[in-house]
Amino acid sequence: MKISDILANGEVTISMEVFPPKTDASFATVEKAVDEIAALRPSFISCTYGAGGGTSEYTTRITRRIYDAGVTGMAHLTCISSNRQTIESQIGELKASGIENILALRGDIPKDSDFVPGDDGFLHADQLVRAIREIYPGACIGGACYPEKHPEAASKESDIKAIKSKVDAGCQFLTTQMFFDNSIYYNYLYRLRENGIYVPVVAGIMPVTSRVQMKRSIELSGCIIPPRFAAMVDMFGDDPVAMKQAGIIYASEQIIDLLANNIRHIHVYTMNKPDVAAGILRNLEGIFKPE
Ligand code: FAD
Repeated sequence: MKISDILANGEVTISMEVFPPKTDASFATVEKAVDEIAALRPSFISCTYGAGGGTSEYTTRITRRIYDAGVTGMAHLTCISSNRQTIESQIGELKASGIENILALRGDIPKDSDFVPGDDGFLHADQLVRAIREIYPGACIGGACYPEKHPEAASKESDIKAIKSKVDAGCQFLTTQMFFDNSIYYNYLYRLRENGIYVPVVAGIMPVTSRVQMKRSIELSGCIIPPRFAAMVDMFGDDPVAMKQAGIIYASEQIIDLLANNIRHIHVYTMNKPDVAAGILRNLEGIFKPE
C-alpha cells in the first residue's frame, strides 16, 4: 500500500524505523528484530539506507522482509555519492522488488572532502525526487525535514524554501528529524503551512534509552535538549534499566501530547529495539490501536 494512502485515510498512524545490518554476519539478528517490530503491527516500517552504498542491498532485502511480515514497507534512498546510472539501477531494483514507498534523501556530504557532484550526479534531494518520478512514476515518495533547521542551511527561511522545492518536485509527505520539545514541531508546522507546504508532516520521535545514544543524537541532529530531558539523563543515565524505562516514558509522553494536539502521524525511531517499540505502544494502549 502507498504511504500517501495510509496517511490520507483519516486514522492516527504510528510507524516505525529500522536500520539494515552492516555485514552479512548481523543479518539474522536484524531480521529477528524487524520481525518482532512488524509483529507489533505499526502503520508502516521504513528501513534506512547506508549513505555511500555500504548497506544499500540490505535496505532492499530488509524492506522486502517487512512486506513479507505483512506490514507496508518503505526504503530510504540517498543520492549524494551516486550518479544517474547507479540511481536508475537502485530505483529499478526497488521497483522489481515491489517496494512502492521511497524516502528520497540526499545523505550527508562525506566529511573532510570538497565534495562536488559529477556532471550527472546529485546535490540535493529534490533532484532525486524528480529522478524517481521519471524512472518509477508509480512510487510514493517521502522526504526529510528539520524542525530545528538542517545543520547546513544558512537560515530557517532558506531551509523551508528547500523543502518547498522538494514538495514541488513530487514529494508527497515529510518525516521530521527527531525533536525533544514538541513546541518546536508545532511552530515548524505553522511555518511550513505559512509557506504553502500542505503535505502530511510525520513527527519523528526518538526514544533515547542511554546517555551514549543521547550524545550521538545531539551530534547528528544538533537538536535542542530541554532541561526536563537533560535532568532525566543526568539522573538515570548510569542505570541502564532505569534509563530505558525513562526514555520510553519520555517518548510516550511526547506522542500523547502530539496526539492531544491533533497531530495524527508519528514515526518512532526504534533503533532496532523491539522492547522499546513495544514499551511505547503499551503506554499508548487505549489511545492507539494497531491494525
Ligand atoms: P536536502 O533536502 O538536499 O537538504 C540538504 C541541505 O541542502 C539543507 O540544508 C537544505 O536547506 C539545502 N537544500 C535542499 N535543496 C536545496 C536546493 N534545491 N537548493 C539549495 N539548497 C538546498 N541519511 C542516510 O544516510 N540514510 C538514511 O536512511 C537517512 N534517513 C533519514 C530519515 C529522516 C526522517 C531524516 C530527517 C534524515 C535522514 N537521513 C538519512 C539524514 C539525511 O541524509 C541528512 O540529514 C542529509 O544531510 C540531508 O538530507 P536531505 O534529504 O534532507 O537533503
